[in-house]
Amino acid sequence: MLLFHHIPKEQWNGFERLVQRIFASHAIITPDQAEAILEGRVPTATNGRVPVLFTFDDGFKSQLLLAKEVLHRYGVKGLFFVCPGLLTVPQGKQQVAITRYIFDGQPLPRFAEEPALLSWKDVEDLAVLGHTVGSHTAFHRRLSQLSAGEVEREVFGSADLLEKQLGRPVTWFAYPFGNIESIDASSCEVIGKRYRFSCSGIRGLNSKASHPLALLRDEMAPDSPADYQEFILRGGLDFYYRNRARRLHLMAKNAYGIH
Ligand SMILES: [Zn+2]
Repeated sequence: MLLFHHIPKEQWNGFERLVQRIFASHAIITPDQAEAILEGRVPTATNGRVPVLFTFDDGFKSQLLLAKEVLHRYGVKGLFFVCPGLLTVPQGKQQVAITRYIFDGQPLPRFAEEPALLSWKDVEDLAVLGHTVGSHTAFHRRLSQLSAGEVEREVFGSADLLEKQLGRPVTWFAYPFGNIESIDASSCEVIGKRYRFSCSGIRGLNSKASHPLALLRDEMAPDSPADYQEFILRGGLDFYYRNRARRLHLMAKNAYGIH
């Protein structure tokens, strides 16, 4: 599972080349196909080709434009994790909201094109285009630092809002920040009550043996060198994240006992 954030226009060529390379040597799967593999309904074996799922976090406007311009041309269906609490922020206040919520108060990296946020209409457009929308909490909160009541509000409340607006079940969740320090056993347990799949930002390849509530994702810069992208696609950085991946897997297993 590949993870992307804001993708400014000058990275679209790099993104398109990545899509072309994955089509040539691997396979791009839809969220539905990923669900079938993760639930063991279909085999994973692909003769050395890595089945790749594209995921996008934080609900940036650039992702919808990219979906219409690039993903659409290749028939790629992605998984978009949005924060419903941030979909109504007026344009003039979006930079402040992005810094405060998505970047946790840290200064924004220097983007060639300022990031903007999706609106509800944009999220509906993504769903109409055939993409899958998942929850990234209501306000991009770090769940490991919240009280039990706050975790429930963020985890259940975001799903309620998305399901009401989109009129379809929301079964995917992604942890804000996604590192092991932002994830804890009690929030993992709450997430499993409402979602079938939960993604972290911890690197690694997933398989049938992965716990569906402890999925790993590899962040990839669309403009990074092709060799490096291929290295990541083949799990080249996995060893470095193995302990964190194991801790996440144990949290999900202790909470739900399957796998
Ligand atoms: Zn995020």
